[in-house]
Amino acid sequence: MNSLIKNVVIVGGGSAGWMTAAMLAKQLNSSVNITLIESEEIGTIGVGEATIPPIKRFNALLGIDESEFIKFCNGSIKLAIEFENWRTQNHKYMHPFGSFATDFDYMPFPYFWLQAKLNGDKRELQEFSMAWQLASNNKFMLPSTDPKSLSYNFDYAYHFDAGLYAKFLRAFAEKLGVNRIEGKVVNVVSNSVNQHIESVTLATEQQVDGDFFVDCSGQRAILLGDTLGVEFEDWSEHLFNDRAIAVQSAHMTSISPYTRSIAHHAGWQWRIPLQTRMGNGNVYSSDYMSDDEALTTLTSAIDGPLLTEPNVIKFKTGRRTKSWQHNCIAIGLSAGFLEPLESTSLHLIQSAIMRLVRLFPDNSCSPLLQDEFNQETQKEYEHLRDFIILHYKATERNDSPYWQRCQEMDIPLSLQRKIDLFKQHGHLVAHDKELFKQDNWLAVLTGQGILPQAVAPIMAGKTQFDLTRTLDGIEKILKQRRQTV
Ligand SMILES: Cc1cc2nc3c(=O)[nH]c(=O)nc-3n(C[C@H](O)[C@H](O)[C@H](O)COP(=O)(O)OP(=O)(O)OC[C@H]3O[C@@H](n4cnc5c(N)ncnc54)[C@H](O)[C@@H]3O)c2cc1C
Repeated sequence: MNSLIKNVVIVGGGSAGWMTAAMLAKQLNSSVNITLIESEEIGTIGVGEATIPPIKRFNALLGIDESEFIKFCNGSIKLAIEFENWRTQNHKYMHPFGSFATDFDYMPFPYFWLQAKLNGDKRELQEFSMAWQLASNNKFMLPSTDPKSLSYNFDYAYHFDAGLYAKFLRAFAEKLGVNRIEGKVVNVVSNSVNQHIESVTLATEQQVDGDFFVDCSGQRAILLGDTLGVEFEDWSEHLFNDRAIAVQSAHMTSISPYTRSIAHHAGWQWRIPLQTRMGNGNVYSSDYMSDDEALTTLTSAIDGPLLTEPNVIKFKTGRRTKSWQHNCIAIGLSAGFLEPLESTSLHLIQSAIMRLVRLFPDNSCSPLLQDEFNQETQKEYEHLRDFIILHYKATERNDSPYWQRCQEMDIPLSLQRKIDLFKQHGHLVAHDKELFKQDNWLAVLTGQGILPQAVAPIMAGKTQFDLTRTLDGIEKILKQRRQTV
């Protein structure tokens, strides 16, 4: 009979390491010893400030109080991402969180909006989102708890200091018995028969044994990559940004409840408002922009005084071909990285942790479980990859070699199929397990100027709705609700 896992060793104490430690400690409830090894000398990547709504579920599962968390992590509210200069220069749109308006007669609201739009209505889809109404007016309220309300369907996430989040979770995890060891892993010992990792050795010569290892060592992937040799699948053909510069600055204006993503001739810049400072970054492709130009572009667009030294980060987009091999799972940057647009990284960490909790193995680490974990992970990464590529591909910009390359690049068939279905028939198919739902895709597609040739034929039968009056009514209710905040 297979025995239960008794000792889990997590290598790495960035957001991935401490999120994993906190959730495993909570879920395994002292039945397993958890040790986390981290090296202050190596440090963490030191960026990652914007999140998406499911993070609320993760915190709730840990039993974290929202206001305590926001206060500790210097957090602020995020209702949307504003994309400036993405479709064309001087154009902007928002990707608001949650759904647009509400369903009618079993059809999602965007079908009605599309029909009105194709009939000449000038209003944009975003105007029918409560999150957009609030964000564009610098307001916030909690979603209604009444499913019949038009304020029920919107959602929100946070901006926060990911370093403080890791610190917050460290205190949480240590209280639940997680043992932290400061030190640098310099050697890994594997079993010569089944290749399972047996122990890691620190620079101090301390040996730490384990039955199951979680590789949270960041882009280095010292266990899954270096030791177990799992290959990295490079996605830079489609996602060719490979550098970022991050710097913090003082606030000069009030805090907005949304992230700004401002495209330039060779990438884009972020503005992420935290309570006490602004996070600024420039994400670019080194094929089209030098580090010096990137730094000047970034700093010349910041109005407040800089609070930190600019930090240049190199990255590679893609993923490990497997996240789970033998008795080791990679979570965080060790498993892969897309790029910061749409803030998916902390979510990928959260979702890998919950997958691990669901499929937590015994000592045999069954290949069937490994395969299930790896297949689910692959689908998730590919879905997010497609969504991010859409932002680059669906542009009308051709004013620089960078944007010309975006327009001309081949895209994965899965994405092409989604775009074609929408263009031809007005349908947007997003499956239940996919993170970004129909309304997220529609926000970006229509925001970037893509509309179908015709609305879905089923709409011809919906003659009971006077489109203009219906849209007028929804708009009025949303505005009235916003004005009460
Ligand atoms: C430019 C940029 C912007 C980003 N913005 C966002 C964002 O807005 N939202 C978002 O969700 N995500 C964002 N991310 C991603 C996010 O930063 C990471 O997903 C997140 O911080 C998790 O990182 P990590 O814990 O996997 O790795 P790291 O933070 O790199 O941590 C690795 C850990 O492993 C330890 N370690 C490494 N080697 C050893 C060793 N030999 N011995 C002992 N310890 C070791 C290190 O000391 C460290 O503790 C961004 C990433 C980049 C590059």
